[in-house]
Amino acid sequence: MMRLYRMMISVAGEFAGALRRTLFCSAVAALMQAAGWAIALPLFQRVLAPGPLVLGSMLPWLAGLLGLMVAEGVLRWREADFIYRYWHRVTEAMRLRLARRLRAMPLERLAQRKSGDLATILGNNVTFAATAISSLATLAVQLLIVPAALLLLIFVLDWRLGGVLAIGALLIVPVMRQARRRANNDFQRIDRADAQASAAIVEYVQGQAMLRASGRSGTSAPCLEQVFHRQHEAQHQAGGTVRYIAHAQLLMQLTMLATVALGLMLYSEGELPLASLLCLILLVVQMVEPLTLGLSMVRLFELADASLQRINVLLAEADLITQVPQQQPEGFDFSLENVSFRYENQTAWAVNNLTLSIPEKSLTALVGPSGGGKTTLTRLLSRFADPQQGGIRLGGADLRHLPPESLLSSVAVVFQDVWLMDDSLASNIALGKPGATLAEVEDAARKAHIHHVISRLPQGYDTRAGEAGSALSGGERQRIAIARAILKDAPVVLLDEPTASLDSESEYQVQKAIEALVADKTVVIVAHRLSTIRAADRIAYIANGGCLELGSHEQLMAHPEGHYRQLVMAQR
Ligand code: ADP
Repeated sequence: MMRLYRMMISVAGEFAGALRRTLFCSAVAALMQAAGWAIALPLFQRVLAPGPLVLGSMLPWLAGLLGLMVAEGVLRWREADFIYRYWHRVTEAMRLRLARRLRAMPLERLAQRKSGDLATILGNNVTFAATAISSLATLAVQLLIVPAALLLLIFVLDWRLGGVLAIGALLIVPVMRQARRRANNDFQRIDRADAQASAAIVEYVQGQAMLRASGRSGTSAPCLEQVFHRQHEAQHQAGGTVRYIAHAQLLMQLTMLATVALGLMLYSEGELPLASLLCLILLVVQMVEPLTLGLSMVRLFELADASLQRINVLLAEADLITQVPQQQPEGFDFSLENVSFRYENQTAWAVNNLTLSIPEKSLTALVGPSGGGKTTLTRLLSRFADPQQGGIRLGGADLRHLPPESLLSSVAVVFQDVWLMDDSLASNIALGKPGATLAEVEDAARKAHIHHVISRLPQGYDTRAGEAGSALSGGERQRIAIARAILKDAPVVLLDEPTASLDSESEYQVQKAIEALVADKTVVIVAHRLSTIRAADRIAYIANGGCLELGSHEQLMAHPEGHYRQLVMAQR
């Protein structure tokens, strides 16, 4: 329970203080409720006292009861106020915190998480965690404190009765521990299976074209079938917890029965007054409800636990830290010194002890076999992750010391899989320069050879990217991304040349767009077409994570046994 509480406080963020205060109110309200029941004893004593009933002697107790009820009501009102006023605010704040975390974490770590998985965390898990924080937590306090306080009162009535109850409670503890452990494992499994299912559904929707082409779009798509089956299995196995909860409930009822039986025995032997016996029965009955509810809610608490854990893991992701002292680039050349980078959970180096300098305003083409490390290298230049060894400098400043805004404004990136957000095409291009005028957007589109295509659409620049999606070819989407980068006008351009075969007109247009983008910039391009490669100032042949050859086309072709020469000969 303490772990759950700590997780809630950590996930509640800015509302942690309000949550603590509300839980305190709930605890005091629960104590007042128990104290109210305790007043039954003096009332019973007066009712059962020999002689006529003196109402006046009961008045102070009734007034006390009224006072407790009013105070409890006020505290409960505060509790309800927190639940209704904060629920949506906690949800919103938690989602924004998680979104900030996604923005701050290295792209490499982000890429390792499936989008469906993240959608589950930001969607279902947040909803459930917010419910847990706003209402479940106060209920838990109620369900724990009321029975504990009643137990204490029964001890005060007669230590033997309290002893029987305490022994019963001690017997229930290991059963409940087992139930919680089991439920925790079950819900971790259910949560993982749910996240995998969401991820698979996203992939299934996104991969429809490919699946249909291969005739596997039915639910018989192997991946989907497997994850749904796993989800079903996980739910099915979770049924086992119910058995432990039923055992605990039985134990609890037997304990209650034993306590009342002992009470009756003590009364019959004259060791327990009638008023105390009646009060005991009343208190035991009051204990049953919160305990039964608490036991049946174990699964709900474990579900909250699983959601909170997943959120906490994401919140604990390390930032891509800007180290001090911060540095600003002086110029826009890159220098890589003994850079080695390995993806998480991989043993092989994707980039291995690579040293390379990329002069300002030069065009460097990266060529080499697939899997050689070209894409990873361009990603490292935009600090998608930090290399484990060596360092990369931009204009003399180590990327790790460069404030993120400075790096982001210096570098424009055009990778192969063009991402268009669900907004107008104008907004998609304007992403390169927030606040750009339509004239600027059109100018960039013209330079990217995409203006005439957009103008032909019925709604022109107002066409939403989603609607335009099917109307735009791969080359056209690429040109929109290039227009975005042209508008950004960053001094450094990182480009992954499209490998998809385009028709010659499209290829020509993309080529022209790229030429407009890269003029007078420091350009690193993962190049596939010989014409792009030949036009480069320098060509770096990248294989096994290292730079094996570096020079102009003519210089590299002069090596009869050179890798580059062999690559060119093979292409020809
Ligand atoms: P290239 O662009 O030259 O084809 P990459 O940079 O894509 O090469 O890949 C270099 C190496 O890193 C390859 O062995 C590849 O399998 C590995 N790699 C690339 N991306 C990832 C990733 N996200 N996770 C793990 N390994 C990766």
